Amino acid sequence: MKYDHIMVRYSEIALKGGNRKMFLLKLQDNINRALKEYEGIKVKRTQGRVFILLNGHAPEPIIEKCRKVFGIHSLSPAMKLESDLEQIQKATLEALTKATDAQTFKIIVKRIDKTFPHRSQEMNQLLGSYLLKNTEGYTVDVHHPDVAIKVEIRNEATYVTSQVTPGAKGLPVGTAGKTLLLLSGGIDSPVAGYLAMKRGVQLEAIHFHSPPFTSERAKQKVLDLADVLTAYGTKINIHIVPFTKVQQTIFREMPDSHAMTIMRRIMLRISERVCRDNGILSMTTGESLGQVASQTMYSMHAINDVTSFPILRPLIAMDKEDIIHISRKIGTYDISVRPYEDCCTVFVPKSPKTKPQKEKIQKYEAKYDFTDLIDEAVAGIETVTRIPGVSSTDEFDGLL
Ligand code: ATP
Ligand code: MG
Repeated sequence: MKYDHIMVRYSEIALKGGNRKMFLLKLQDNINRALKEYEGIKVKRTQGRVFILLNGHAPEPIIEKCRKVFGIHSLSPAMKLESDLEQIQKATLEALTKATDAQTFKIIVKRIDKTFPHRSQEMNQLLGSYLLKNTEGYTVDVHHPDVAIKVEIRNEATYVTSQVTPGAKGLPVGTAGKTLLLLSGGIDSPVAGYLAMKRGVQLEAIHFHSPPFTSERAKQKVLDLADVLTAYGTKINIHIVPFTKVQQTIFREMPDSHAMTIMRRIMLRISERVCRDNGILSMTTGESLGQVASQTMYSMHAINDVTSFPILRPLIAMDKEDIIHISRKIGTYDISVRPYEDCCTVFVPKSPKTKPQKEKIQKYEAKYDFTDLIDEAVAGIETVTRIPGVSSTDEFDGLL
């Protein structure tokens, strides 16, 4: 008997009522995609669980891949066997002896198949006494066991598991629509994208690029960040906007103190156009309240004014330290801190307003019509698609 399956437990999906089937199909799809390099693997849905048939592959690397799939609560290598007392006894014995360093154990039986002749509580006792009789040096500890051996007697078969690896939690990517992530080369926006994906949202990204002030390497940095993010979901289209002319014009025509706010407003106007052209219903940024001048309540009020689209700000209440912690965990930090310039750092004014006023800005903007420049920028967008697993790194230090 050996661990020939992975048992996948999901949590929140179970609450989704009528949409449950859709959530599970998406989860199944996403697991299949994460494991596409493993030949012969099968992902099956049964009542309350998803099972991965390993078909000869070792469980560990498969579990490692699945830890990045949102919607999974936990994963366990599982032995599949007939619902037969003797077989179950043997499997639990094997699970116990395979658990290294364990001295105490506990049996947890779940009888889903009500036609199975022994009730859960009776099975706990039958299996517990069998293990004590057939081993030496083990004792039962129901409160803090070194190993908890779980037996699920299901309609189609029985599964025995012992080891549990936590999953990424959240909801399957692709169940909550699409957002356009404003992706800079910084630390924050990739983390914002990751957190949006965690709630089931699929990403497209937009990046404002200002050559020659920002280099090819700065653009590459953004593509590399997108690659890391693809490992948590699906492919990502990145819309790269030629932004040099717009930026130069802003800094030439608009007062220095309000240039940053006006630039942000134009970024959002362009982003909204991309949303409309691609059927995307929201935008996501890496803004965190009070982090810099453009992220005060006043600034957000003035910047937000140009669009009626919802803007998701998953980091809004987070401290920088916590954001950095996540970026390290998900593997974007080392890319984000590469010392390449981005368009905002090149054009930073000496003293940006922390309390820009909407009315003042509207007055400044009325003096110069940016429409043609915006049209030109949108027409010049280059869209690059990044596919999961093609160029992404595999460094991964576990999830939150
Ligand atoms: P980040 O670490 O994400 O760059 P930040 O702390 O540097 O954020 P800002 O430079 O004020 O903050 O940018 C705020 C948000 O605006 C970013 O999180 C990102 O979503 C968006 N943004 C900034 N610059 C760009 C850019 N060049 N292309 C696309 N989005 C951008
Ligand atoms: Mg930045």
